Amino acid sequence: MSTSSKKTFYVTTPIYYVNDVPHIGHAYTTIIADALARFQKLAGKDVFFLTGTDEHGQKIEKAAAEKGLTPKALADSVVGRAQDLWKALDISYDLFIRTTMDFHEKGVQKLFRMLLEKGDIYKGEYKGWYCVSDENFLPDDVPLEAEGCKTCPDCGKMASVVSEETYFFRLSAYQDRLLKLYEDHPEFVRPQSRLNEVASFVRGGLKDLSITRTTVKWGVPVPGDPKHTVYVWFDALHNYVTGIGYDWNTERFGKFWPADVHLVGKDILRFHAVYWPAFLMASGLPLPRTVFGHGWWLKDDTKMSKSKGNVLDPHVLLKVFGPDPLRYFLLREIPLGQDGNFSHEAFLHRVNSDLANDFGNLVQRTLTMIGNYFGGEITGAAEETVEDARIRTDFEELKGRVFDHYDACALNRALEEIWAYIGRVNKYLAENEPWIMAKDASRRPRLARVLLQAAAAIRGASYLAFPVMPRSVEKVWTFLNEPKMPAEIRWDGLDFGGFGPGRKIGTPQALFPRVALKDFLEDARIGEQAIPAVKQAPGAEKAEAASAPAGDNKEGVIAMDQISYEEFRKMDLRVARITEAERVPGATKILKLKIDIGTEQRQMIAGIAETYAPEDLVGKRLIVIVNLKPAVIRGIESQAMLLAAITADNKAVVPFFDRDIPAGAVVK
Ligand SMILES: [Zn+2]
Repeated sequence: MSTSSKKTFYVTTPIYYVNDVPHIGHAYTTIIADALARFQKLAGKDVFFLTGTDEHGQKIEKAAAEKGLTPKALADSVVGRAQDLWKALDISYDLFIRTTMDFHEKGVQKLFRMLLEKGDIYKGEYKGWYCVSDENFLPDDVPLEAEGCKTCPDCGKMASVVSEETYFFRLSAYQDRLLKLYEDHPEFVRPQSRLNEVASFVRGGLKDLSITRTTVKWGVPVPGDPKHTVYVWFDALHNYVTGIGYDWNTERFGKFWPADVHLVGKDILRFHAVYWPAFLMASGLPLPRTVFGHGWWLKDDTKMSKSKGNVLDPHVLLKVFGPDPLRYFLLREIPLGQDGNFSHEAFLHRVNSDLANDFGNLVQRTLTMIGNYFGGEITGAAEETVEDARIRTDFEELKGRVFDHYDACALNRALEEIWAYIGRVNKYLAENEPWIMAKDASRRPRLARVLLQAAAAIRGASYLAFPVMPRSVEKVWTFLNEPKMPAEIRWDGLDFGGFGPGRKIGTPQALFPRVALKDFLEDARIGEQAIPAVKQAPGAEKAEAASAPAGDNKEGVIAMDQISYEEFRKMDLRVARITEAERVPGATKILKLKIDIGTEQRQMIAGIAETYAPEDLVGKRLIVIVNLKPAVIRGIESQAMLLAAITADNKAVVPFFDRDIPAGAVVK
């Protein structure tokens, strides 16, 4: 999708069921939308970002009755859960729409009446299998079971036959136009694989859609026939037009419609990619450019579900880390469209390695040196060498590539590129060793140049990460004493550098908390409660139960962290002998080791510099994992990992063997 030629950008999330407790799945969609909205603003677009809640329908009616409340009172009492979470996540929406808002209900009625007059809506009799929980008639291909009943493929609950007078939407009349839409505009559904699913569903034949209920009271009344209420999906989908002003703010509606991206979970793609464009074709409104069906987050490779007690409550992570680490992790870890796996280990690894180490340390070290060596104000820098110039020219190229990635919704690619550049800047500092230059007065102009280059790189790279981590980047820009914040600078107006003479750089504070995995897991367990799950994939629950190995399917939080013997056996643990050990310039916590693992020599980075001096380590034997994927730490490839105990003050104590064991011996 290239939206570059257009002056406006309109992005939406689905409206979430008001009675759901918002979880990581909701947060994911909303964070994507927020990052895209923030990026498009930097790109100079006039942006509108809509999110909100779906407040009508049978489920809410029932939940309210159980609590002795009116449906509206129930909605009013719980809508704050979503709004509070979006606040905590720094979500910059322009309007939070509730389908109980007056302008929305009026808009839906107007559209309904228009379609009725045109003949696209007509009255008839509907009989079919209906899932009360999902407020949805089952697809015709759901088989009849032996007992003569049907089970809802979405939630696994028993469906019931419902027969009622209803208004139909003439969906069948739009089959050919929909197929032509997918053919002429393949970008209408992304990713591509989902387009194929949608198209083959439509090719299979479309039946007219029942869009009103007499059995549900809590909904938008059908104009002129108030014993019917409008089916929640017809009601809900139209929030995308009423939310920007359809029939109440014509100027804004004309400016922003059609939407550039509707972000949706893949479970509701059909509603957005089949029904929604058909409704719009019927009412003569332009079609959105793209419906993006993103994937789901699994927890430790298992679908989150209430019964497993493994649904993630984002507040637990937010309490410890603030919003940016979660925003970064969710967007960095997987390409939009694929399923992701959320594990606390992976999350903490990203926070500690990418954010605290690679980015946070770079900021901290560079600005501290500018403070210590130059009193915060860099003067008398030498001319750029070829190598200095590369930091600048690399940035200029990076800026273009990152723009394209954001513009194509490839958020993970944008972040990968930014962090690769941050890695290069770290390497540049390590190679230039400014802390050694500082000891020699004659090298002061070089020292000034190196620190200036690093500070400019920090400023530039952080700007590029602003759509994803706005709060942290504003902090960095505050340390840099920037006169403007990133949101005030257009992408094409951002230059490398930007430090005029007389700029006095402030004192950096830690950007990201350092949390030990053990403490974090304890906190996380306390916070993991059974809360409503992400919508189930058809049959997902059953498939898992069948494939789970015996003894591994216990419910609850302890079982979630267990691994099978098969998984343990995959780890290749060996005795290694340390042959060399040295400090890593500029790093206080890590050592670079050379080890003998029997068959070969390896190098590794170990976070043990606070407990051991390099000279004490040579000749020692210890246990290492030798088949872990290599990681690059401080620009150095680490080809093994050692095992160590972590003390209360976060120091690593290594178990060494107390007798001579040959390097390479298997540990099991
Ligand atoms: Zn269902």
